[in-house]
Amino acid sequence: METSTLLERLNDAQRRAVSAAADQHLLVLAGAGSGKTRVLTHRMAWLCQQHHLSPYSLLAVTFTNKAAAEMRSRLGELLQMPVSGLWVGTFHGLAHRLLRLHWQEAGLPQNFQIIDSDDQLRLAKRIVKELGLDDKRWPPKQAVWFINARKEEGRRAAHLEAHGNPIEQGWIRIYLAYEAACQRGGQVDFAELLLRVVELLRDNDSLREHYQNRFSHLLVDEFQDSNELQYAWLRLLTGEHGTLFAVGDDDQSIYGWRGAKVANLLNFEQDLKGSEVIRLEQNYRSTALILKAANALISNNDNRLGKELWTAGEEGEPLTLYTAYDERDEARFVCQQVQNWVDNGGRRDEMAVLYRSNAQSRIFEEALISAVIPYRVYGGLRFFERAEIKDSLAYLRLLNNPHDDISFERAVNHPPRGIGVRTVEQIRLQAQQGQVSLWEATEQLLAAKTLKGRAASALAGFLTLMEQINTHCNGLDLGAQVEQVVEGSGLKIHFEKDRSDKGRARVENLQELVGAAGSFQGDAHAEMSPLDAFLAHAALEAGETQGGEWEDCLQLMTLHSAKGLEFPVVFMVGIEEGLFPHQRTLEEPKQLEEERRLCYVGITRARQQLYLCHAENRRLYGRELYPQPSRFLEELPAECLQELRPRLNVRRPVYRSAASNQAAAPTPRGRGQGVGKRVRHSKFGEGVVTDTEGQGDHARVQVNFATAGSKWLVLSYAKLEYL
Ligand code: ATP
Ligand code: MG
Repeated sequence: METSTLLERLNDAQRRAVSAAADQHLLVLAGAGSGKTRVLTHRMAWLCQQHHLSPYSLLAVTFTNKAAAEMRSRLGELLQMPVSGLWVGTFHGLAHRLLRLHWQEAGLPQNFQIIDSDDQLRLAKRIVKELGLDDKRWPPKQAVWFINARKEEGRRAAHLEAHGNPIEQGWIRIYLAYEAACQRGGQVDFAELLLRVVELLRDNDSLREHYQNRFSHLLVDEFQDSNELQYAWLRLLTGEHGTLFAVGDDDQSIYGWRGAKVANLLNFEQDLKGSEVIRLEQNYRSTALILKAANALISNNDNRLGKELWTAGEEGEPLTLYTAYDERDEARFVCQQVQNWVDNGGRRDEMAVLYRSNAQSRIFEEALISAVIPYRVYGGLRFFERAEIKDSLAYLRLLNNPHDDISFERAVNHPPRGIGVRTVEQIRLQAQQGQVSLWEATEQLLAAKTLKGRAASALAGFLTLMEQINTHCNGLDLGAQVEQVVEGSGLKIHFEKDRSDKGRARVENLQELVGAAGSFQGDAHAEMSPLDAFLAHAALEAGETQGGEWEDCLQLMTLHSAKGLEFPVVFMVGIEEGLFPHQRTLEEPKQLEEERRLCYVGITRARQQLYLCHAENRRLYGRELYPQPSRFLEELPAECLQELRPRLNVRRPVYRSAASNQAAAPTPRGRGQGVGKRVRHSKFGEGVVTDTEGQGDHARVQVNFATAGSKWLVLSYAKLEYL
């Protein structure tokens, strides 16, 4: 695109930010939808076109893979060039790339692997046990939290002081052992990725200078949510001569609970000499009424830098406030509105359902399945987190690095090959005593002939199997390697034996994995082997690129993951005291303000229509609740809202008064077979009744099962359990 046209698409303040002098540090501090991300991408294009910088001398960072992909594609359009090798990504993704290039200097083995939170927890469990600590007093979850929080503050176990506090001392001991185990196994958790890179650049002068020269410009989106470590990293890369361009909004800071520091925004001017702050106040995203509601809500927060958004756009429709009878009625209402939108020529992917807690998605999924509305859940059960996929990845990682203990534990007796818990205990003990990996400990035990007959031969068999797979994989391309592992490990046959739908789905997932590996392109970096790149992709991008992305699907996600995105139609659901604001934030004014910012983020995702829903009864986490409408709803100006109540347009389900829940529970015959009911079938799992026909012994129901699809069943045979 021509430079002149590049600036034409911006307002004055935006243009000033984009075309600021090339060596000007700049902070764009502005509300939602005011074009911060747009300014950031245009700035990159401007630097390349006007100042003839290579796009490879820019490093741009954002928070989610989805946002990074979006940024890359916007940039590709502006620059009219392929953008795959550019340094545009998430903090974790970019840190990982640097560590792959400089593993040696970073003190890592070349084949180091990224572990996710699930692996991290397993490792913590093992360590608590190995240290002989009681896991009730030292819950592994809390250990993980302790370790991550310290890492995010940039502190190693060796730097910590217990000051005679025995509890602190215990956590430090666990942290130390955890670090040692990771180092031995070549494992790197998410917080470690960043900490390593910060240490690498801090301690290695020539490397730091190299990158400071290489990246003349650093650009960061969603700056309000950067934590101390991320900021330290940015500052190290900026050095004396680099230029930092940050965009952010204090009103959208929603990761305080994970150590994000709004102070980074506040201190920008002090930290970066000669910097300038530009404010944008015109919103281009939402209608005037949506914006008015957002402004009114956020004005209830005390700790603000203070800014008001306005729009030149139209007033738009009032926000719809729907008081649902219960959570199913809420879901039904959303389905109906989605259907209306589609019937009027709209697309499903123009709409998003946003909720506070992941657990809320299930009810929507059921309602959507029965209404046959395609949908996609972000951050739900992610492909790379499914058990059978993690099993296969464990074999791949173990092939890559036999000293990967986490993978060893996962693979050694899965599928079952007669290696019992006691044998594994023995291996662990041996490993602990000799400070070696589980693989080496196994070799030692076998060589010393310490193990009994069957255990010994089963273990020897496992080692031989791994060596065989390794030999067979030699020279194969990535897809074929993964296929070799899936079959050679026995996993495929193991799951094939399970004839249930679940078993079949697992085998399909394994095939999907082989396919994914076969077509895996990765970013064309020479610094990684294809297998390394694929494993890193699996760990870093888990789920964000689920299948079906290209289809026209309704989008479901938490409010947190909606940050930075926009949709013509937004449904915010479950806006109730205790759910949103979340129960644990009610006592703490600071946390309550963070919840309000989250609500502000939600409202400002909507471009044309916003639905706010709450229910009078809610079953969640297996409990029946009678929640009050959220205080946030009361903070919205009445003139922005139009209220809808279910009494006007639905019949309340009569059988489900909470007191008589048991007595009036529906039976499989008669009224119980009704459309919309949730049922469980011994083979097909859970589903929703979508149609009925016939009576008595011939009565049939059509059920849409979550995994098995739609089926007609004869009631008298099907033995459906009504939920
Ligand atoms: P958030 O705080 O939610 O991340 P943001 O400040 O990053 O929002 P953008 O996503 O960059 O805002 O922009 C919001 C919408 O407004 C986008 O659709 C963008 O294309 C549009 N927009 C921004 N600036 C202009 C402009 N000058 N003219 C027309 N449209 C604009
Ligand atoms: Mg943005």
